[in-house]
Amino acid sequence: HLTVSNISKSFAGLPVLVEQSLEVQEGEFVALLGPSGCGKSTLLQIINGLVSADSGRVVLDGKDITGRTGSGRGMVFQGSDLFPWRTALENVAFGLEVMGVSKAERTRRAMHYLHMVGLDGAADKWPHQLSGGMQQRVGIARAFCIQPSLLLMDEPFGALDVQTRDILQDELVRIWEAERKMVLFVTHGIEEALYLADRILVFSKRPAHVLKEITVPFERPRREDMKLAPEFLE
Ligand code: ATP
Ligand code: MG
Repeated sequence: HLTVSNISKSFAGLPVLVEQSLEVQEGEFVALLGPSGCGKSTLLQIINGLVSADSGRVVLDGKDITGRTGSGRGMVFQGSDLFPWRTALENVAFGLEVMGVSKAERTRRAMHYLHMVGLDGAADKWPHQLSGGMQQRVGIARAFCIQPSLLLMDEPFGALDVQTRDILQDELVRIWEAERKMVLFVTHGIEEALYLADRILVFSKRPAHVLKEITVPFERPRREDMKLAPEFLE
């Protein structure tokens, strides 16, 4: 369970977040929509401990983690941020290395998640040898590999072509359905939010506040039902 309460943050005296609160329930997939510059990335980085809030609290599974990085959270950043001097496998295993997991065990686990994102064959490739979509896959595998209770995803598919994005959305759904982590997923796409999330928070422009909260009232549609029937494409 994630409880974010009364987070405020200003840059140079100008507020980005004012007393912002939100919750993510166990096993819930929450999407965060809002205009560019409203404060979505800032909020995710405060939850991840990479940016410090001026006030407010972040509590994960009963533990106050305000202003602390590490434990319990995996993050996929806006754009790829792989370590260029590490192979795909070493990137995925990085968090486990920091946690002191043995080499054999971290290789086993990292290979499992590389397999889940369809990158069995790319384990020994360097990031610059991978396409944008493949790099995002490595980023997703890396976030899952530390088995966090909360995944923070900041427009992970924003820079990808539509086909690759659809494939990665479905890979994410597959892993998420197997593991039921809490997910907080920032996106600009209302369709993406409706397809992936159980609940959608719509932020206003800066300073962000929740304009609307939508509980998605249907089961996730099947991808094949969302495609136009072939007769419409002729
Ligand atoms: P986008 O959808 O474009 O990614 P966002 O909602 O993620 O936007 P943020 O990156 O959180 O927006 O930025 C919110 C506001 O805070 C912006 O106006 C941005 O310029 C400002 N901001 C973010 N980080 C800093 C910083 N380190 N110093 C000063 N201003 C900042
Ligand atoms: Mg952002």
